[in-house]
Amino acid sequence: MSDDYREVLYTISKDGNRKWVYPQDISGFFMNTRKVVVYILMAIYILMPWIEIGGSQAVLLDLPSRKFIFLGNTFWATDTQFLFLLLGVLASSLFFFTALFGRLWCGWACPQTVFLEFLYRPIERLIEGPAAKRLRLDQAPWTPQKIFKKGLKLFVFALVSWILASTALAYFVGRTELFDMIASPPTENLQLFVLTLVLMGILLFEFGWFREQFCTVVCPYARFQSVLMDPHTIQVGYDPTRGEPRGKRRKSDDATELGDCIDCGLCVRVCPTGIDIRNGLQLECIQCTACIDACDSIMVGLDKPKGLIRYDSEVKLLEGGKTKLIRPRIFFYTLFLSIFLFGFLYAIGTRELSEIKVLRGALDKPYSLLDDETISNHLHLRISNKGSEDRTYTISATEAEDVQLITPINPFPVPGGKMLTTPIFLNVPKASLVDGSRKVEVTVTDGASYTQTQEVTLLGPTG
Ligand code: SF4
Ligand code: SF4
Repeated sequence: MSDDYREVLYTISKDGNRKWVYPQDISGFFMNTRKVVVYILMAIYILMPWIEIGGSQAVLLDLPSRKFIFLGNTFWATDTQFLFLLLGVLASSLFFFTALFGRLWCGWACPQTVFLEFLYRPIERLIEGPAAKRLRLDQAPWTPQKIFKKGLKLFVFALVSWILASTALAYFVGRTELFDMIASPPTENLQLFVLTLVLMGILLFEFGWFREQFCTVVCPYARFQSVLMDPHTIQVGYDPTRGEPRGKRRKSDDATELGDCIDCGLCVRVCPTGIDIRNGLQLECIQCTACIDACDSIMVGLDKPKGLIRYDSEVKLLEGGKTKLIRPRIFFYTLFLSIFLFGFLYAIGTRELSEIKVLRGALDKPYSLLDDETISNHLHLRISNKGSEDRTYTISATEAEDVQLITPINPFPVPGGKMLTTPIFLNVPKASLVDGSRKVEVTVTDGASYTQTQEVTLLGPTG
């Protein structure tokens, strides 16, 4: 067995040119199951901006307002603890699942695989035909029929890329704004218009031409996943003990000296990255399971058990050993995942749906001395309503006869998902200051579940 595949990417020829991959269609248990998973994921991506919860778009990353709306909850730029915990959950899940099941993400949920294999490639098949026809079309001279097919494919790809790019934008600007933008001349929203075109161009380049090169040349996960895996990791692999020595033969041939692999090459022809899984674990393998379905269909035809290519560990496939699911790295990844997940769920569960902050006014002097020897401190009260319902907040100060709170609107209404600021003036007698300051408490309540008090230091003259 030549080891060339360890040195050179399959999709790069010896002279450095790109070798185009024409994966053959295949159906089977894994392909059908993946279709269900992938179409659910696509539907979530496309429909999410259309779903409204509590009067807001279900998912909206509003960068200018520095807020993130997720399923009726509003997170502000100050809520970094949630982002930290969420990133911890995502990172430790990636470690955990990769150590246990290899590149499960790549084959089943990565947008690269989802859109290429289940959206762009089927469109290509519909227009240009199955793999062998596509190869012939690419090699054929430019006839009117070829120009028509290639032009039609480009047009449909561009349309799909525009829909995907616009959907991505709807997550950032909101679907209403997106429709306003589409309905008005591009000059009125030049920045967003250019951004849509750039995104559309990237998608068109990626799914129309670059394709599997992204996984093998660009994606960092493909590079570091090997350090997360070990010989007990369960992944798509070929069973050489059962399959070798391989050899071509017919079903009726008596070839007891040969293994179960009939060297038909179907597992290679269906592979979207063009590799031969029989060479063992390779960087290019995105664990798409197409070769499992392909080989199973051959084994069924030969009246042999399925699973010559299957999900299994290297220990089992290469050494006939026993796969260990519980190992030190799995223990530590589970521990990290549990800590981050528990922390995240606890933080979300105990999260206050309102938040207040008293800020000093931007005046040269923090206080004014009034005619009646009263010191007035000008402050700002910022109230964040992180829930989806509108709330009205009552503002009060320390219950003391000599403390007076003046604010233009009290109770102060704040719509759901908004952060508003109102001015407040806190007046106290000058004589009540000690060394030029006095502590006062400001309390804000929504009359239901939320009451928060913040201590404020009032300033005044020291003399
Ligand atoms: S599909 Fe199965 S039988 Fe055919 S070459 Fe691949 S491993 Fe061998
Ligand atoms: S080797 Fe098999 S699982 Fe890996 S990318 Fe190719 S077809 Fe998919």
